[in-house]
Amino acid sequence: MNKDSKDFLFKLLKTPSPTGFEVPIQRVVQARMKKYADYIETDVHGNLIVGINTKAKRRVMLAGHCDQIGFMVRHIDHNGCIFVDPLGGIDATVVPGTRATIYTDKGQIHGVFGRKPIHLQTGEERSRPKFDLKDMWIDIGAKDQKEAQKLVEIGTPVTYELNVLELRNDYISSPGLDDKVGLFIVMEALRLCARSRLSVALYAVSTVQEEVGLRGATTSAYGVDPHVGIAVDVTFSSDNPGANPTKSSPCILGKGPGIYSGPNINPIVEEQLKKVAKAKRIPYQPLPSSRLLGNDARAMQATRAGVAAACLGIPNRYMHTPVEVCHLKDLENSAKLLAEFAKQLGERTNLKPR
Ligand SMILES: [Zn+2]
Repeated sequence: MNKDSKDFLFKLLKTPSPTGFEVPIQRVVQARMKKYADYIETDVHGNLIVGINTKAKRRVMLAGHCDQIGFMVRHIDHNGCIFVDPLGGIDATVVPGTRATIYTDKGQIHGVFGRKPIHLQTGEERSRPKFDLKDMWIDIGAKDQKEAQKLVEIGTPVTYELNVLELRNDYISSPGLDDKVGLFIVMEALRLCARSRLSVALYAVSTVQEEVGLRGATTSAYGVDPHVGIAVDVTFSSDNPGANPTKSSPCILGKGPGIYSGPNINPIVEEQLKKVAKAKRIPYQPLPSSRLLGNDARAMQATRAGVAAACLGIPNRYMHTPVEVCHLKDLENSAKLLAEFAKQLGERTNLKPR
């Protein structure tokens, strides 16, 4: 991956975007994309919509959600310990022992998630550990409630401490790879098309609030009114002991994006994506899904009178933990695939299943 793209990716990963608090990351995307865009606007919901060749009649929307799971401050106790509620699907088993960052109006405050030490847990607590966010708190080192309250208001957003760890062989680990990698890919795809002649209008949308019900894709797809809508989101890889090989199809980090098929997917767009991948020698992995997808593709497909929906699944390990893992090559190949797809799509290609 070239340095400029990698810098953008790492900047996204280090910028907080807990669901409902996405403005800082939208600013990062806007700053990067404005030189490539014919159209760049934020809507009232907070989605950032970037478009090129927007006069064309046929519209293609690429969606990557910018929000990441996080927390909101609910209560500060007499010791100055800060209790939080989850934003999105927090896995409470991995919370204790992590570092947290609280985003106040006056700047960031660092803390650690604490819980009752193992020595003090009852026999029942030890043998049947029931992890509940209510039994954990953030310790910022405040002397007492008064000091903590002065620094942190109720309702302030929080994330795990944001960082990127480069592992061997182009693997990276970071909180929020779900779905900042998808956001990165859709913006890179648009950048790769920016100097080409397209027959279609191409919109890359940084959608908000996916983690609480695909809400940004619902509103932005209504606004953009696309004919084709492709979501890019992480998916469960099968290449680690946590996977269940008989219950999922193979999905391996570094082997290219997954191209979904099934009821959530328009078969013509799916076929075109696979055709383009083969022609351009871009690796991909077929990902059948008999159910509707739990991501923006689901919202886009049922917009207005229907959208020809498709989805790329980016192989991911340890989803919704602070140490999610993805492979840089998969991100590059996904962006390339979407760009090549957009370049070859005709104004009149029939999208009706036949
Ligand atoms: Zn996601």
